[in-house]
Amino acid sequence: MSGQPRGGAEGERLERREELALSLAEVRARIAKACAAVGRDADEVGLLAVTKTFPAEDVAILHDLGLAEFAENRDQEAGRKTREFAGLRPGARVRWRMVGSLQRNKARSVLGWADRIDTVDSTRLADALAKAATEPVEVLLQVSIDGDAARGGHPIGDLPRLADHVARSGELILRGVMTVAPLSMSPQQAFAALYEAVTRLRDDHPDATVISAGMSGDLEDAIAHGSTCVRVGTALLGSRRLASP
Ligand SMILES: *Cc1c(COP(=O)(O)O)cnc(C)c1O
Repeated sequence: MSGQPRGGAEGERLERREELALSLAEVRARIAKACAAVGRDADEVGLLAVTKTFPAEDVAILHDLGLAEFAENRDQEAGRKTREFAGLRPGARVRWRMVGSLQRNKARSVLGWADRIDTVDSTRLADALAKAATEPVEVLLQVSIDGDAARGGHPIGDLPRLADHVARSGELILRGVMTVAPLSMSPQQAFAALYEAVTRLRDDHPDATVISAGMSGDLEDAIAHGSTCVRVGTALLGSRRLASP
């Protein structure tokens, strides 16, 4: 540290804070506008900051700016980052969501940092999570709208069966669904199909109220079709330098 111009690092931190404050204001304005366009209340739509590949310092800044919900997609990176964040902001009450594809042998490890698993896409993964859980775990079912296995998610037509399985497990609390819009159709079509499926699902699972849909590029479409949670990375934090599989 000695000999380093202290103003340099401090200056960079201040600059990053201004940058993030600006992009957060822009994202909030987009959400408000999209809600207004379809007559929804802006506070019906939560903002989940996807912080994968970005440092814990950015999470700390976003927390200072009022965000409390963050998402990661890789267990190892997230484990490290959540501990680091806790060191930067001791006692801060934030919630961490797992939004990446999850292998069954990582169930225990992920439950060490994640407050909700948003990518439950099979009965086998549900069983692994239930077995690893030491307390009730909130989950979202990840839905594949066009059945393209490469993008992950459980086929939309079979959603009721997976939902029933999760609801029966006792350890898992079914909170709703999550999707990444497929490449094979327009986001509008995809989000409309998801909304219809969830509406039917709620006959049997009234507490499945979360619809996590919409990212930096398509959050307006998702909000128009009932999204209650947009997952935003790039539009908040900038472009990711590392590809995150
Ligand atoms: C990275 C990621 C996002 C955020 O995507 P952006 O286009 O950067 O906003 C949202 N959801 C999931 C599942 C992701 O992996």
